[in-house]
Amino acid sequence: MKGTVLLYTLIALGHLMPMVELAKLLSKKGMSVTLVIVDLLKDSSSFTSKTISRLSTANPTISFHVIPPATEGEGIDHLFKILQEANTPLSYLLQSISETSSVCAVVLDMFCTCALDVARQLNIPAYLFYTSGAYDLAMDIYFPTLDKNLDNSIVEIGNRLLHVPGLPPIPGSHLPDHLHQKNSPVYKTFINIYQRFVQYDGMLVNTFESLEKKAVEALRAGLCFPGGYTPPVYCIGPLISVPEKKEEERHECLVWLDMQPRKSVVFLSFGSMGSFPEQQLREIATGLENSGQRFLWVVRSPTIANRLKRLDPQDKPDLQAILPEGFIDRTKDRGMVVKQWAPQVEVLNHESVGAFVTHCGWNSILEATMAGVPMIGWPMYAEQKLNKIYLVEEMKVAVNMKGYDEDIVVAKEVEDKVKLIMESEESRVIRERMETMREKAVEALRECGSSHTALEDFLKAVRKDDVPC
Ligand code: UDP
Repeated sequence: MKGTVLLYTLIALGHLMPMVELAKLLSKKGMSVTLVIVDLLKDSSSFTSKTISRLSTANPTISFHVIPPATEGEGIDHLFKILQEANTPLSYLLQSISETSSVCAVVLDMFCTCALDVARQLNIPAYLFYTSGAYDLAMDIYFPTLDKNLDNSIVEIGNRLLHVPGLPPIPGSHLPDHLHQKNSPVYKTFINIYQRFVQYDGMLVNTFESLEKKAVEALRAGLCFPGGYTPPVYCIGPLISVPEKKEEERHECLVWLDMQPRKSVVFLSFGSMGSFPEQQLREIATGLENSGQRFLWVVRSPTIANRLKRLDPQDKPDLQAILPEGFIDRTKDRGMVVKQWAPQVEVLNHESVGAFVTHCGWNSILEATMAGVPMIGWPMYAEQKLNKIYLVEEMKVAVNMKGYDEDIVVAKEVEDKVKLIMESEESRVIRERMETMREKAVEALRECGSSHTALEDFLKAVRKDDVPC
């Protein structure tokens, strides 16, 4: 009888896709893998079912389950309510799996930390799979300590620098929005989650050791948790989702890239949920046009209030109405605008792509790293402003898009930064650093590389001696 690992996450692509990659790895290592996904929107069921059906067809060895949301609603408080309610069906599922297989471990996405209660009740070891990097993890774990020493809300602290072990100094304003209002319900929920990280049996992180050395060292040295103890940290990344597609399914933007010179195109993409108001889209368009550079730009409909609803691939923007008059025509020889979604990993790995304007989501950063493409950081939400600091100030593999934390990024800034990253001496140095990072990432994933070894260590920890794998 094979040992089972149950992986548990939510239907947000930045969290789901790395979890699928982890599932594939564990399955290849001989584990029986069940991947449970909490759906979030009642009316998104067609998006969820299409996604899951595609994933299960591509991965027949993995057993996929969806837990539908028990209640309707919006916002992050509601998200946590759904996740809390999902504990009951999760518990039933685990008990039913246990009847035929030995469940070696559950692996939880950070948002699903409330499922630690289920694991404890059923006496199953529980591991965190943290889909951002080690810098962010160190910040999360240290945040309850910071909170105790803060009399004011982060929002009142503004740009005062915060000091966290293993991290460069962080301006308060760069913490994620959910940590801005001290004692708000969402703030308390996150503090509670961060405090519970110490209860995990180990923490898997989608990173590699040499990318975030200082943060990994600080975590391992116990500098971030108040008690000095940190569960084992396994840096198993970068786990990147590369879709397997047939030649005839190749996206038209890749065909367009085939016709562009080597490293000549700047790619702009803002994650699975990033969208801008019309005025900002027009500033970007003007900046791109004035830069004279080739570009490939993914445009999503101007802001839809509920971020989760931006997952809907049917929602296609009317480009003629949104972008400056004549823009598409005037730039058609050197630019392409893609509606909603582009195959980002394939784009970044295309030899025509020379730079990446990114919202600094962690998956996007890892994907750019594996492709060796320099970045312009334009953070939008969640932990992206923190990631931008690491990219620009620590790793020095990106430049800043000025104005990201003001009302608008003006066209001139877009023009200047695009020219800088494509043409300047500074960008040549950044490109070299990215190439070195890429080599280190490849090295980490090789047999006996740090990430490969970390996964083996994790497997040793979860496999019970009496369970042949
Ligand atoms: N992505 C993509 N095409 C797009 C936009 C996003 O393939 O047009 C993928 C991207 O490659 C990445 C994920 O969606 O794997 C976004 O994850 P990330 O952590 O960067 O940002 P999030 O969406 O979680 O904010």
